[in-house]
Amino acid sequence: MTQPLAFTAPGQFWRGNLHTHSTRSDGVLSPEEVCRRYRAEGYDFLALTDHFIGSYGYPIVDTVPFRAPGFTTILGAEVHSGAMANGELWHILAVGLPPDFAPSDSPDFHPKAGQETGAEIAARAVAAGAFVAIAHPQWSGLTLDDARGITAAHAVEIYNHGCATGCDRADGFSIADLLLSEGCHLSLIATDDAHFSEPDHFGGWVMVKATENTPDALLAALKSGAFYSSQGPELRDVRVEGDHVVIESTAVVSAIVQGRGTGARAVHGHSMTATRVPLARLNGSPWLRVTVIDAAGKRAWSNPIWL
Ligand SMILES: [Zn+2]
Ligand SMILES: [Zn+2]
Repeated sequence: MTQPLAFTAPGQFWRGNLHTHSTRSDGVLSPEEVCRRYRAEGYDFLALTDHFIGSYGYPIVDTVPFRAPGFTTILGAEVHSGAMANGELWHILAVGLPPDFAPSDSPDFHPKAGQETGAEIAARAVAAGAFVAIAHPQWSGLTLDDARGITAAHAVEIYNHGCATGCDRADGFSIADLLLSEGCHLSLIATDDAHFSEPDHFGGWVMVKATENTPDALLAALKSGAFYSSQGPELRDVRVEGDHVVIESTAVVSAIVQGRGTGARAVHGHSMTATRVPLARLNGSPWLRVTVIDAAGKRAWSNPIWL
């Protein structure tokens, strides 16, 4: 069994947002002001991920000048190429791209004949060093077949705050759970997808375990799965002990363990900080994951644990 790396790897947790837009694509604020706001809100790092299409000049924004003591940035983009089953253009998050990542043939938000497929541009981003995630599956109208095809992806965006506030389609768990049940070792990220055009910021983030707050250390930790996602609550430890999962966290009212199919079990209470959830209802699932919910309804989510 694999205990989750977020709680066994050395280092400390660094809070970051992996999906953000600026005036370099369709966001409202300049890159400098976006970075300033995330830093002011207590984030340790930010990836600015403007839309990598021709009409915006294929931006991979240089955010290095906006780094400061205690705050770093990772270069990246939201890349777009190829059509999903519904005929619309792929949205794929790539965090940790080199500044000279070659443009795709993606002039605008419409698929173009002959351009790279979504799977191909995802694989090219991974080969260039990026941490790659399938963005906002529910908002995109992604099918399971679509998602299966992005074999290079490290992660699925399971909560997208902009999609929560903009269209009430924030979910990525539905597809992620099916992929996990097919044996795909994917991790799970919450992001803002902030454009600052509506209340789409500071609502979902990752807590990454690393020995230092540098782009290289954060990227290595992201790729290894040494992180969890949150809207507020902190996870301190998640571990399997015999036939229970032990969840240590800030005070929560619910702790839930999910697995394959209908496998799930919740424990509810008051101000719970060390919760033991029995595995009996997990139906022998080869993987499990954890959700905690605080009294304000804010959630935190672990990465999958493979048994
Ligand atoms: Zn998108
Ligand atoms: Zn986006």
